[in-house]
Amino acid sequence: MTDTTSYDVIVIGAGPAGYPCAIRAAQNKLKVACIDAWKNYDGSHAYGGTCLNAGCIPSKALLESSELYHRAQSEFGAHGIKVGSLAFDLATMQKRKAQIVKASTQGIAGLFKAAGVTAMPGHGRLLSGNRVEYTSLDGKQSQLTAKHVVLATGSVPMELKSVPFDGKAVVDSWGALEFDAVPKRLGVIGAGVIGLELGSVWRRLGAEVVVLEAMEQFLFMADQQVAKEALKHFKKLGLDIRLGAKVGGVKAGKGGVTLEYVDASGQQTVTVDKVVVAVGRRPFTGELLGDGTGVELDERGFVKVDHECRTTAANVWAVGDVVRGPMLAHKGKEEGVMVGDLVAGLVSEVNYKAVPSVIYTAPEIAWVGLTEEEARKTGRPYKVGSFPFLASGRARAMEAPAGFAKVISASDDDEILGVHIIGPMAGELIAEAVLALEYSASTEDLQRTMHAHPTLSEALHEAALGADKRAIDFPNR
Ligand code: FAD
Ligand code: NAD
Repeated sequence: MTDTTSYDVIVIGAGPAGYPCAIRAAQNKLKVACIDAWKNYDGSHAYGGTCLNAGCIPSKALLESSELYHRAQSEFGAHGIKVGSLAFDLATMQKRKAQIVKASTQGIAGLFKAAGVTAMPGHGRLLSGNRVEYTSLDGKQSQLTAKHVVLATGSVPMELKSVPFDGKAVVDSWGALEFDAVPKRLGVIGAGVIGLELGSVWRRLGAEVVVLEAMEQFLFMADQQVAKEALKHFKKLGLDIRLGAKVGGVKAGKGGVTLEYVDASGQQTVTVDKVVVAVGRRPFTGELLGDGTGVELDERGFVKVDHECRTTAANVWAVGDVVRGPMLAHKGKEEGVMVGDLVAGLVSEVNYKAVPSVIYTAPEIAWVGLTEEEARKTGRPYKVGSFPFLASGRARAMEAPAGFAKVISASDDDEILGVHIIGPMAGELIAEAVLALEYSASTEDLQRTMHAHPTLSEALHEAALGADKRAIDFPNR
């Protein structure tokens, strides 16, 4: 192994945290390489990590296709559109998804080229003294050095010991994105973001879906008024969500796979054809750290970092799912961009108080800042305004009147503390609230901002007015 090239920055991992970091560092005129080891099922390499290859993008492609099919079944009639007999072709849906993924991942290779980042497909391992051992896809090893190394190796699905993956009947989220036939009966373990999104996809396409969730409380991380509303709509879709269900094991038999679980009523079983285990993800640092690097992990396996994503080793940084905080692509991106600036000596920071969350179900769910439960716990007096989409002309015109927007603000200085939306395009609407939090906006700022009519965004405007009992289009309570 010869000591060949030295860089200003080597980024290990080209997911949504690593690739923006590499590009930003290159924009700052640094000499940058990005090493990435992603392997698809067919053994091919692609940039973009989990998000582009097996997460955000393919799941949204299938959510869109299945939602269109579902709307054609359940909504088109109300518009006076007659579709006759309706059918879908899963192979075409999957092909479309694969094309979207390919266009996205190839786009990153193009971005690297344009920015002057040296793209290095293969495996990276940090050695002591900021050296990196690089193993190319054909197994050749070389050693690189860098002034700064950024670890962006992401996360992998958590496995349940009692329900191990077998890649056939029991799969992870990636496996559940690749089904080539709609399972007649699908068991989902975990009613978190993945469970609800992928459960919705297969339910809309006709599967009977049972979701087993260990917690008694549904969507514990969300505002509970939103969670309650969401549960109502998921039940209407036909998701059989069983709360407080502790899964103990799985048995394969001729009639399918039987999941054993305990809930408040005692020992239970449910037999399905496929099982998706979606109980969270864990940080991935396998084969990443050589001896004496000085990089420490915490008790859950995350790389320890400070608020600027510096690890415990000098000039080694870590960003994205491999460090603390929500496992979200946009959180990783902002950390990557911050580090791409910090390594160039620029000032940068991430505002962890304004990280939006979106669940891409129907209705969509999105929030930023404190939930009402969290606001209550702070002890600071607060006020709440909410506005139902039923009262929105645009939502009614869209045949999408479900849900509401909710604004939580401090009573003392009017600062917006949290915004929660369940309803059409909630994931798009939340951007305005994120900006409001970023600028520490007050409810009055939102109230005085003109919103185009008729738009869904008026719901947020009216919710802000409602916080001061000044809503126009809905009776104030
Ligand atoms: P990753 O995307 O996991 O990328 C890490 C990269 O590093 C991978 O390519 C990996 O192969 C590579 N790597 C690992 N070790 C090495 C090594 N030693 N050498 C070289 N390369 C290495 N988030 C959202 O914000 N919105 C969504 O809609 C969303 N949907 C999701 C849907 C699903 C089904 C899943 C599973 C996740 C979803 N997520 C979503 C989460 C999102 O995918 C992650 O938060 C995001 O991908 C994390 O980015 P990252 O760059 O930290 O890691
Ligand atoms: P999650 O943390 O969102 O949900 C996991 C759920 O599984 C929780 O409700 C948990 O209580 C439950 N659970 C844990 N152990 C269980 C058990 N033994 N039996 C039954 N239930 C159990 O995790 P996820 O849905 O796997 O998603 C992983 C990560 O990917 C999340 O951090 C999420 O942010 C990210 N993601 C984001 C999006 C998005 O932004 N739209 C979409 C998909 C994934």
